[in-house]
Amino acid sequence: MDEILIEIQNLKKYFPLKRGIFSKGLYVHAVDDVSIQIPPRRIFSIVGESGSGKTTFGRTILRLIEPTSGKIIYKGRNIMNLNQKEMMTFRKKMQIVFQDPYNSLHPRRLVKDIIGEGLSIHEKISSGQILERVKEILKKVGLNEDHMFRYPHEFSGGQRQRIAMARALILNPEFIVLDEPTSALDVSVQATIVDLLIELKNTFSLTYLFITHNLAVVDYISDFVAVMYLGQIVEMGSKDDIFNSPSHPYTYALLSAIPDPDPKKKRSRTIPRGEIPSAVNPPEGCRFHPRCPYAKEICKRSEPEIVEVSKGHLVKCHFPLR
Ligand code: SF4
Repeated sequence: MDEILIEIQNLKKYFPLKRGIFSKGLYVHAVDDVSIQIPPRRIFSIVGESGSGKTTFGRTILRLIEPTSGKIIYKGRNIMNLNQKEMMTFRKKMQIVFQDPYNSLHPRRLVKDIIGEGLSIHEKISSGQILERVKEILKKVGLNEDHMFRYPHEFSGGQRQRIAMARALILNPEFIVLDEPTSALDVSVQATIVDLLIELKNTFSLTYLFITHNLAVVDYISDFVAVMYLGQIVEMGSKDDIFNSPSHPYTYALLSAIPDPDPKKKRSRTIPRGEIPSAVNPPEGCRFHPRCPYAKEICKRSEPEIVEVSKGHLVKCHFPLR
């Protein structure tokens, strides 16, 4: 990776546990020392089970949730040092589309107001000009001007996600966090929304951080992939590195759970033992050791370093798979 749009360095987000006097001093380690780099105009996916910290990570890098520590460097500038006013300028460039199109759109506002709101906050232009811009952006997401004067409940889930994309795009962003944008949709419309996201990325030269648990979509859409487990990245590389040569036992287990469309091909399925442990008290040593079929004594005591198994392919494991 040469040119970098956004770089995250050692990002942490710990939430204090507020449950009775015995929980004093306890924290949920939602994001724990995560570093990534995303080049411009690429799709970087973060995958992991629910509870892995991927959604908190996406929100923290936009400072919708304030990080505990770390650096967020956007085009060479650490946005952690910006005050609220300075942050407003960056907000235009960094947008988010949420998972649930049913709750993320205000139910009592017309579509034109939902989409145009960002413009009325950030730009000094007339209501007529805002309407023109809303009209234009609706066309780009596959809707039309008649839709401007309707309410969100009059639309299907897929159409609502198109409205959410229009709301994000109207400020001409460069970077969008897509937080499980298809998981609340019917399977039949998921593919059309994924294709729309790719088309919009190419039209507007966008960079995406794509957060999901759907590995089939990740395989289809991504340039780079990071696998998250209990607040940490355990493997990261190009899409081919992750899908063709998975080296962390957790990645291997996730991939083995994808059904193969060819019934003649038998894939040996590796299911991690037990449940994902609590992020309040993550296991010592390697956090995956209680579930890992390859765990050895050292894994219980010593946290693995991140090693580069091939150029740009990073793995946090004492015994990467080959
Ligand atoms: Fe498994 Fe040990 Fe690697 Fe952790 S460090 S993933 S326990 S082999």
